[in-house]
Amino acid sequence: MSKDYYNVLGVDKKASQNEIKKAYRKLAHQHHPDKKGGSEAKFKEINEAYQTLSDNKKRGQYDQFGSGYEQPGAQGFGGGGQGAGGFQGFDFQDSGFEDVFSDFFGGGQTAQKKTAGSDVVVDVNIDFKEMAKGVMKKVKIYKKIICKSCDGTGAKNKETEQCPKCGGSGKIKKSRQTFLGTFAQVEVCDQCLGKGQIAKEKCRDCGGDGVVRDYQEMEVNIPAGIDEEQVLKIQGGGEASVLGGSAGDLYVRIHIKPYLDFKRKGSDVVSKLYITFPQAVLGDKMEVETVEGFVKLKIPAGIEAGDFLRIKGKGIKKFGGFGQGNHLVEIKIKTPKKLSWSQKSLIQKLKEEGI
Ligand SMILES: [Zn+2]
Ligand SMILES: [Zn+2]
Repeated sequence: MSKDYYNVLGVDKKASQNEIKKAYRKLAHQHHPDKKGGSEAKFKEINEAYQTLSDNKKRGQYDQFGSGYEQPGAQGFGGGGQGAGGFQGFDFQDSGFEDVFSDFFGGGQTAQKKTAGSDVVVDVNIDFKEMAKGVMKKVKIYKKIICKSCDGTGAKNKETEQCPKCGGSGKIKKSRQTFLGTFAQVEVCDQCLGKGQIAKEKCRDCGGDGVVRDYQEMEVNIPAGIDEEQVLKIQGGGEASVLGGSAGDLYVRIHIKPYLDFKRKGSDVVSKLYITFPQAVLGDKMEVETVEGFVKLKIPAGIEAGDFLRIKGKGIKKFGGFGQGNHLVEIKIKTPKKLSWSQKSLIQKLKEEGI
């Protein structure tokens, strides 16, 4: 678990910020994934190490606790996400790396940014029972989708021709000035966005973008036991991108409508059951509603207010099919407020009997 960040950057434990920065730049240059012989894994590792060691506060924590303490923000987005993909756990926006790297994340990155579809956030309501069992929900989303007339090519009758700017390769060579010196870099062609082909004539339905705004119905599989406000991430479920870039992601925020007085306690469901004094004393059989329907519940004689009765396996399904929680019934005893004359005399008799 605990990585040796000093080792990763090849610096001494007592290295100055300047030495750390220098070592980092050298290694980042060497292993940058856009470069020949570069490695994304290695690059990530270097960045992770630098992110910690370049920040004196984080470095102090690391020196004390190792890399296990981790930054809580790294997972992001409400806990439902399946990871961000790409540079996971490392956020360029937050870390100040944007400045350092704006030099060498050149055209390729920018072109990708330009073509990637936007993320979409939708709110979905489910009821308590659906939460307990999991549910497939259909959601209708108004968003950019691939144009059907041109299949996303942006070309009328799907007729394309070679891109004049890049000669069909989709790439343009450029030499870039960076703080690490000059080096040649291959960039995505900004005219055809890397496709090598452009429309002979623009598609009339989408104006050449390859995408149109329309409703799309999607099925969202909501797992049992999901929490209020939890967000599910559906990779690629967002808006389609202009000219076939990667689609954005769909974020589904869950809202749970209450049902009866059902409360959730982990994977158990808790509800209250009101019984009369004679039922408490003598015991009884009663129908109790659970998320799995009505269940006959035996109330043992002599039960007290505040006791819990457990109905096994009628609670919330556990994630990954690991069984199901229970339904817990909290016993409440009804005290009658208005009594007839005969009822009153009966109770009076009980009192005289010492009950
Ligand atoms: Zn079109
Ligand atoms: Zn081109």
